[in-house]
Amino acid sequence: MANLSPLLQQATGVTAVRGEGCYLIDDAGRRFLDFTSGIGVTSTGHCHPKVVEAVREQAGTLIHGQYTTVLHPGLVALSERLTASTPDPIDSFFFASTGTEVVEAAVRLARHATGRTNIVAFQGGFHGRTAGSLSMTTSKVAYRAGLQPLMGGVFVAPFPYAYRYGWDEDETVAFCLRELDYLFATQTAASETAAMVIEPVLGEGGYVPVPDAFLQGLRERANAWDVLLVVDEVQTGFGRTGRFWAHEYAEIDADVLIMAKGIASGFPLSALGAPREVMAQAWPGSQGGTYGGNAVACAAALATLDVIEQDGLVANAQVRGKELLAALQALKERYPDVIGDVRGLGLMAATELTADAARVKAIVAAAEAEGLLLLVCGPHGNVVRWIPPLVVTSAQIDDAVTRFDRALSAVAR
Ligand code: PMP
Repeated sequence: MANLSPLLQQATGVTAVRGEGCYLIDDAGRRFLDFTSGIGVTSTGHCHPKVVEAVREQAGTLIHGQYTTVLHPGLVALSERLTASTPDPIDSFFFASTGTEVVEAAVRLARHATGRTNIVAFQGGFHGRTAGSLSMTTSKVAYRAGLQPLMGGVFVAPFPYAYRYGWDEDETVAFCLRELDYLFATQTAASETAAMVIEPVLGEGGYVPVPDAFLQGLRERANAWDVLLVVDEVQTGFGRTGRFWAHEYAEIDADVLIMAKGIASGFPLSALGAPREVMAQAWPGSQGGTYGGNAVACAAALATLDVIEQDGLVANAQVRGKELLAALQALKERYPDVIGDVRGLGLMAATELTADAARVKAIVAAAEAEGLLLLVCGPHGNVVRWIPPLVVTSAQIDDAVTRFDRALSAVAR
């Protein structure tokens, strides 16, 4: 515990001293299969040799080339690489260090570019803990408690979480689009709305993929009303869902794309991408910061992109993701009273349990005792999420599901 803030709590009892691919090793030398990936960050696995080499090289050359003072080659190269890796309209990038900063930057950009004030977010979304992004965060009341009122001008529309509503997907999508139209008719006029902001897979709110038809419905409305569609791919980007970007599944374009986590294998780096014309409509001087686009983080990102490409990690996420979902489905059949729902896209999967938060905590602790690290999400603390590094093998997936099976039989039965 040392002198750490008592408010900063760890989900596991592990003190990690080393990371190696899909494993974390603790101070007693125990190896844990890491299906948390540092909350979806270490996509290339812990300490991938190519990333380590690039970071070592960069640290010996230039650590901090402060980007509102000077340019550095990594920043330029990364902006070019991201232009090639993002859907066509996105061709210019702003860099920061964390997800929440680029969410804030998206709000500033949308307000400046449209001259409008309001933002529509979706129920259960998580966009960050700083004041603006927290105003758009409704994944759990604990994040907001004691801090309200938050930033004004944010309106929250229903999210198509079919399992929660107890409806099929089509019915849920139709309901949520109808309610969105109602919100635009009753609370915020299109003419005063700058942006709609959505995660293509609800993350902290419970790992719920957005049905394609819903994203398509948002795109149609954004076009009709001249509202920007901001897609928050902080957790879903860089191959996590089996496509490079999760919103590619719906075959729609984002007007503003937000990314972080999987971008740099653990170095703090985030980016906001938008078409140059949209960026150019905002106010000069409205983007900046001290640490954004750090040179070592950019080198880590460039190496990460190389590894994703050369090792075929997007395809691996797709194939391994299907294996993972199938294994979790099979587990659900064996524990029908405990596992209520299995869902996910690629290597962003969830088992929503019927147990309460305390029991789920006990199950996850039992998994830890079995050598498997997992995280929980959702407003009720009953969704176990499965986010291994994208380098995970079939054998490691089998191993993880077997360990979870043992944890379930120890606690749940
Ligand atoms: N958006 C999404 C979708 C996220 O999952 C997160 C972090 N969990 C954030 C934004 C905020 O990122 P950060 O914690 O780096 O500020």
